[in-house]
Amino acid sequence: KDYLARIKQHDGALNSYITVTEEIALAQAEYADKLIQQGNTSPLTGIPVAHKDLFCTDGVLTTCASKMLHNFVPPYESTVTQRIKSAGAVMLGKTNMDEFAMGSSNENSHFGAVKNPWDLTKVPGGSSGGSAAAVAANLCVAATGTDTGGSIRQPASFCGITGLKPTYGRVSRFGMIAYASSLDQAGPMARSAQDCAYLLQAIAGFDHNDSTCSEVATEDYLAGLDQPLNGLRIGLPKEYFGEGLQEGVAVAIQNAVKEFEKLGATVVDISLPNLQLSIPSYYVIAPSEASSNLSRFDGVRYGYRCEDPKDLMDMYKRSRAEGFGKEVQKRIMVGTYALSEGYYDAYYLKAQRIRRLIKEDFVNALKQVDVIMGPVAPTTAFGLGAKTDDPVAMYLEDIYTLSVNLAGIPAMSIPVGFADNMPVGLQIMGNYFAEAKLLNVAHQYQ
Ligand code: GLN
Repeated sequence: KDYLARIKQHDGALNSYITVTEEIALAQAEYADKLIQQGNTSPLTGIPVAHKDLFCTDGVLTTCASKMLHNFVPPYESTVTQRIKSAGAVMLGKTNMDEFAMGSSNENSHFGAVKNPWDLTKVPGGSSGGSAAAVAANLCVAATGTDTGGSIRQPASFCGITGLKPTYGRVSRFGMIAYASSLDQAGPMARSAQDCAYLLQAIAGFDHNDSTCSEVATEDYLAGLDQPLNGLRIGLPKEYFGEGLQEGVAVAIQNAVKEFEKLGATVVDISLPNLQLSIPSYYVIAPSEASSNLSRFDGVRYGYRCEDPKDLMDMYKRSRAEGFGKEVQKRIMVGTYALSEGYYDAYYLKAQRIRRLIKEDFVNALKQVDVIMGPVAPTTAFGLGAKTDDPVAMYLEDIYTLSVNLAGIPAMSIPVGFADNMPVGLQIMGNYFAEAKLLNVAHQYQ
């Protein structure tokens, strides 16, 4: 009830929720009370959480922040939300986001932009900006997000919270509305690494409903949190500290690294030489996969349908033209172009080859060091509207996050200070399935 009251009081200004599921929340809370009385609890019993509005929730509106799905009520539940529900958590609602998770500022939402709780004139980051703002403003204890190219880490950084993008395949994508299937991964967003560990504990692990979900055994993500960091080798990639990095962000990151040295870590200078290529490679691969994934929205079985279609073609065309926002249409067109005959080799195949080089950079670096650290984003949260007319400037925001998804490794964002009065996030990247190590490193700092 406290959280529902807080949402009523503060979310008018923030716009972090698309749907508040008051009735469900109260019923689940009542059930949690019963479980607690019976002594039949898990760490998530009764914990109020929110879900990014691209996780399908059975019987609950799921819009992906698009007009295309403004009326879509899924007949089934995503694995992530099902597992959190089964652990006894209480769902407060569904959070705002960039339409179909395409964006870095949460300004591409059919339901309006989300505001950063630290400064209402600034963006919360994207695409999981609603989840980040809701956690930061204490309109939920923790939230789910998804990260295709930075959408958990960058909003976590902009809002001063902790977020984890797990290894690709660590968490099931079943019931997550797909953006770019080879990059999408769900993860926790919360106030601390420990809270993220509780959520990951619930959601990680094999699911036969997702053929790309890994069968690698999960770890106990809480057991190792208190391990000291003596001897930890931290790699600092020189490419993460070059041109375009806001000075205050660089200072906050360097100070955080010094703290890790005090905790017993040693710093190694490393190089990830293909970092610059991650933007062109990602912005070919992600739109290509999106153009294919989003072809299912045709106005036939669910979602938006235009009025009075003349014939089938007219219905397809107008439903998609009216149902998708501008950024989504742009990416469908870019992706369709890159996949078309004659261009496939020049763009898509080439981007895939670059992806392999980027992955090898990480594999080689992680032979020398245990974790890699750097900024999450080159700047702190920018002003609402500041980059909406300049897509290249917007895409450049993703420079430090995209390569992690292209490689498929796990990475976190943890708050490490402020620059110009806005939060700064430190990015901690690790080897495949090293989530427990990342959480341990983050927890020792916190
Ligand atoms: N900003 C990136 C994009 O627009 C990443 C978004 C995401 O991770 N979903 O594609």
